[in-house]
Order: sequence, then C-alpha cells, then structure tokens
Amino acid sequence: MRKFVNDKLLFATHNLGKLEEMRHLFTPYDIEIIGSLDLALNEPEETENTFIGNARIKARAAFEASGLPVLADDSGIEIDALNGAPGVHTADWAETSLGRDFIKAMKYTHDKLERINAPYPRRAQFSCTLVLAWPDRHEESFYGTVKGQLVWPMRGVLGHGFDPIFKPDGYHQTFGEMDRWEKNKISHRAQAVKKLIASCFE
Ligand code: IMP
Repeated sequence: MRKFVNDKLLFATHNLGKLEEMRHLFTPYDIEIIGSLDLALNEPEETENTFIGNARIKARAAFEASGLPVLADDSGIEIDALNGAPGVHTADWAETSLGRDFIKAMKYTHDKLERINAPYPRRAQFSCTLVLAWPDRHEESFYGTVKGQLVWPMRGVLGHGFDPIFKPDGYHQTFGEMDRWEKNKISHRAQAVKKLIASCFE
C-alpha cells in the first residue's frame, strides 16, 4: 500500500457538505485539502454503474486537470425495498432544471416506498468508495458503509443529501439531527476514510 507524503490533496468534489466532512476527518493530519470548486474544475459525467467506477472517473478527471494527488469518492443510499436503488444514481434523483433538490428527492423516495407498500423497518445503507490517485496513475481504494432505516417525515436540518430521512442503527437521531462530529464517527465516508488513513497516512 503506497504512503501519502504530499502536504496538499485535492478532494474531487463539488459538494461543499462532503468537503467540509472530509476536512473535519483529516483534522489531525497536517494536509491542506482543497475542493474542485477551488480550482474551478468541471464535473465529469458519472457513466459507470458502480461506486468504484464513478470514483475512478472523478479521480482521473481531477488529476489530469490539476496534476495534484486526488481523493475522489462516490457514494449513495441503497434501499432494500427498492432493490438497492437509488445507489449510484442517488444524486440523479435530486436533479431539477434549477439544480439539485434533495427535499424533492426524499419525497420522491418516500412516495415510491408508499406506492409499493414497503414493509417497516425500511432498511437502507449509505455506501462510499474512496479512490486515492497519484498523478503517476497509482491508485488505492477503500469502501465504507453504514446500515440503518428510513424515517418519515424528514428530521433535522444538518448534514446534506438524504441525511434527514436516514437513522443509523443504534441511534435515535437521523443523520440530519446529528452534528458533524457525531456523524463523522460512524458515517460510510468516515469508515472508508479510517481505512484510507490507516493504510496510507500512518
Ligand atoms: P456523489 O457521491 O457525489 O455521486 O453523490 C451521491 C449522493 O448520495 C449525494 O449527492 C447525496 O445525495 C447522497 N449522499 C452521499 N453521502 C451522503 C451522506 O453522507 N448524507 C446524505 N446523503 C448522502
């Protein structure tokens, strides 16, 4: 496993919520983490049907445009009663002509579950695959997941994406009700980052 020795890392995301989470997870390490918006990078199209495939697309596009070592992730929520959907298409469910609207996506998801009379508890998991890519094209990848159930109505205004309807196992609060320190102890991204740090940063 290759060690990371640079002091600057580009996190290939346009999502400021994820960038903030990642910066928090890396607080103990002396590494400057910048995001795609800092370099005005374009968002590549995610054409693969796996998390790792799409994370690789983002990583490669970002290091080709910047020359920097890159961390990229692809993540999403997989709902048992929907056979794993929306999965890699999670962000697509929020698309509107005016940008992403996750309130709309959560309502759409809930309506879909109601229509098929999905039984309770409505099991789901967040998954995340991280790819760390060096400009010489060497890559390491890591996977993290957190299981839980969906709640309705939405609860909490913290976090991002589907956080207000996801209650992780063992907690009463949804991700939308947890502050980021709490969420970052258990989230799918945190699990993947822990593996990444143990392998490449320690
Ligand atoms: P991508 O990984 O940027 O392709 O987007 C995945 C989508 O999954 C995000 O836009 C969010 O809607 C959702 N998602 C991923 N991680 C989280 C999370 O920690 N909380 C809430 N939603 C998430």
